[in-house]
Amino acid sequence: MAKIENYNFKDKKAIVRVDFNVPLDENGNITDDTRIRGALPTLKKILADGGSLILMSHMGKPKGKVNPRLSLLQIRDAVAKALGRDVKFAPDCAKAQEAAKELKPGEVLLLENLRFYPEEEGKPTGIDKTDPGYEAAKKEMKESQKEFARTLASYADVYVNDAFGTAHRRHASTAVIADYFDHQDKMLGFLMEKEVKAVDNILKDIKRPFTAIMGGSKVSTKIGIIENLMDKVDNLILCGGMTYTFAKARGGKIGDSICENDKLDLALDIIRKAEEKGVNLVLGTDCVAADSFSNDAKTMVCPADNIPDGWQGLDAGPDSILAFREAIVPAKTILWNGPAGVFEFDNFIAGSKAIAEAIVEATDNGAFSLVGGGDSVACVNKFGLADSVSYVSTGGGALLEAIEGKVLPGVAAVEDK
Ligand code: AMP
Repeated sequence: MAKIENYNFKDKKAIVRVDFNVPLDENGNITDDTRIRGALPTLKKILADGGSLILMSHMGKPKGKVNPRLSLLQIRDAVAKALGRDVKFAPDCAKAQEAAKELKPGEVLLLENLRFYPEEEGKPTGIDKTDPGYEAAKKEMKESQKEFARTLASYADVYVNDAFGTAHRRHASTAVIADYFDHQDKMLGFLMEKEVKAVDNILKDIKRPFTAIMGGSKVSTKIGIIENLMDKVDNLILCGGMTYTFAKARGGKIGDSICENDKLDLALDIIRKAEEKGVNLVLGTDCVAADSFSNDAKTMVCPADNIPDGWQGLDAGPDSILAFREAIVPAKTILWNGPAGVFEFDNFIAGSKAIAEAIVEATDNGAFSLVGGGDSVACVNKFGLADSVSYVSTGGGALLEAIEGKVLPGVAAVEDK
């Protein structure tokens, strides 16, 4: 695999898979441009070398159909402003041959939303998985996907993948396209390199003690990661809504708290595995319970396994916060995914805020800290602490799959051949 820092893009046309899937308000204005800013180091390097840029991305889920509300034309001006130069626009990403051909060094062409074509995702549309013709349709779609990827590849001399957010998908633009470039002409962008390095710090280059904090609403969505981390961590803090599935599994009374009743055995299994492997499992012992799911609810602090009916645990209590801090502050490697409470309500942010602050303290003392997964990123942003941890990942699903130990197709595609 080529390395972007060593590559000379002079007079080369580079097709770059970026993640410009930025949130828009109802008038099509960008509400958070983090993803555009995240791609700038890669894009600026290519332009500074004297190359030209063909930018491709998806936006939203148009499901293989043209949808003007998800047009990337809406973000063209923001990209132009960020790059400080004009950005041409190709209104059909699969018919941009002429526009690509005419591109001169230093020029930028933005392609329309890749997902206006079903070939991008490569899943057959309009046919149910249970339909007898599904397998044939799938095979046919895979062929069209290759054709689509080949068309995109034909625009450029070099392929750069800088879209970590979609690296866990084997889509035309994220992986299949790489087959049409020689190994010296395909590479990860700077953002992708940083993300891959951050995951390596967590999974391979571990400084101990290693503390992972998994929160959020459900244990079921985090089980793959919890299992993979169990072999690696010294301390595992499980917090947020999943606290109550564990409390109930151990015979506790959890009132109206969120609970996955079909995951009680799984919770006991996790407790058992932690014991077997010598992992210090930290579960909240107390909570801030509320008499309704609202910011203005009446609250009280009570044991997480003795919550009265009509009440629900919405945040970690003070004893739990102390226990979390004890496991976080001395750590040298930290991973945080998922809030410790309903942080969207200002009255239930204390647990998540304490975790964020303890991570910052540990980071100041030399720990490597990775915060990833949508809601914990929202937390550190809300607390103004994003710049005080070692790394905030841009990838939700991709980060989680990487931490589960899965190979990301978007990374493998440029690495392998
Ligand atoms: P996830 O998408 O699984 O990471 O979950 C994130 C969501 O979990 C956030 O929207 C939180 O509000 C929610 N959450 C955290 N703690 C609780 C809790 N105790 N009860 C209900 N929801 C919670």
